[in-house]
Amino acid sequence: MSRSKIQKERFKKGEAISPVELIKKKRSGAALTEVELRFLLEGYLRGTVPEYQMAAFLMACFFQGMSDEETETFTRLMLHSGQIVDLSDIPGIKVDKHSTGGVGDKVSLILAPIVASHGVPVPMISGRGLGHTGGTLDKLESIPGFRTSLSIPEYKKVLKEANAVLIGQTAEIAPADRKLYALRDVTATVECIPLIAGSILSKKIAEGIDALVLDVKTGRGAFMSSYEDSVNLARTLVDLGTRFGKNTCGFVTDMEQPLGVAVGNWLEVVESVECLRGARGNGDASADLMEVTHTLAGAMLLAGGKARSLDEGIRLSQQAVADGSAYRKFLHIVEAQGGKTEAIENLELSPTPRHALQIKSTIDGFVAGIDALEVGLVSIQLGAGRQKLDDALDLKAGIVLRAKVGTQVKAGDILADVFTDRDNVVASARQRLQNAFLIRTEPPARRPLLHCYVDKEGVHPRPG
Ligand code: URA
Repeated sequence: MSRSKIQKERFKKGEAISPVELIKKKRSGAALTEVELRFLLEGYLRGTVPEYQMAAFLMACFFQGMSDEETETFTRLMLHSGQIVDLSDIPGIKVDKHSTGGVGDKVSLILAPIVASHGVPVPMISGRGLGHTGGTLDKLESIPGFRTSLSIPEYKKVLKEANAVLIGQTAEIAPADRKLYALRDVTATVECIPLIAGSILSKKIAEGIDALVLDVKTGRGAFMSSYEDSVNLARTLVDLGTRFGKNTCGFVTDMEQPLGVAVGNWLEVVESVECLRGARGNGDASADLMEVTHTLAGAMLLAGGKARSLDEGIRLSQQAVADGSAYRKFLHIVEAQGGKTEAIENLELSPTPRHALQIKSTIDGFVAGIDALEVGLVSIQLGAGRQKLDDALDLKAGIVLRAKVGTQVKAGDILADVFTDRDNVVASARQRLQNAFLIRTEPPARRPLLHCYVDKEGVHPRPG
């Protein structure tokens, strides 16, 4: 009998496979069988595999990776740890977007209403902040009353009514990812291609989509800072999504500096609303945010059958902002999920934090770099993210950049506004942010924002 058959028999009889054996096996670089992975994941969910053994297993995966077959099995087990929502009674091609995580990445908040306003249903399950990156759920929850925790019937009802729904994972949808995501966040095991792929695809497929557009970030503020690793992650995600029968494509986009200007939950909602109203995002410091948003929205409109090319999709996306339909759709989604639209319509009434400080340039020159990782870490220190699982957030805290890479500045010009309620972090945040800005006498070389496009045929400069 083969080793895997013997294990299956042992497993069926309820004989324990030792988690220590499996951790050692992964630590030595071998691939785990389906039975072994199932034993670990099911045991972890039931509580028979404790956190410390799962953490050790994750660290072994971090160093040794997984084979392609193992990654697919791991993703399938994560997916089947809960329900796969059936959206077949909702007409249309259901399309979602997922980002691998960045600093100031509020694209989902702008893109979901744009795409939904064109009649493409957008079911979206998002995460909380992970590592130094912000999470869509935390941003949405900074809107007073907004509910991100909906039952599956409520999720479907909002999707039917508003054509988009944005929620967090539930006990029913990919519960294994919900638990592992939180554990990875506090055990330094986030930056691992098979774990990221399993995490993203299990929850995305479980939400009932037909097509998926991925935004794989690259650069200092991304989990994959090297371009090669980012392209590998994009290829893994696209291959796996395709193998699961979903029309999947992805873009590798830049995360060397934060996207747009705001970093911090409510501050990012404010920037998103201003972009949706067309008041920001054209030739200003939020232009990078809107270029990424329109490109991804264009790809979603193409996948959703509303555009015949990416360029047409991008035009439709821009039109939804220009004619106000995307902003109206955003208000509709907020209302359908219990949020107070008055908070959105009257941004000037936003709550004020106790401390508001300014970071200023000390010399004349050009902004040559803004360290996205450091900005993300400082935003956590200010209260916008978590250092421990149960940390409470200060939803108003964060940073608004007043200069981006390429901006010419004079000594004394404001580089960033900083907001927090925490007295004890002000001095350190000021120093760290001052150092996060690199000012040089020469203008910097331009770095591409959209690095490449990946589909099942391979890697291309752009879709064609
Ligand atoms: N986003 C996810 O949903 N999971 C990861 O592991 C990383 C980014």
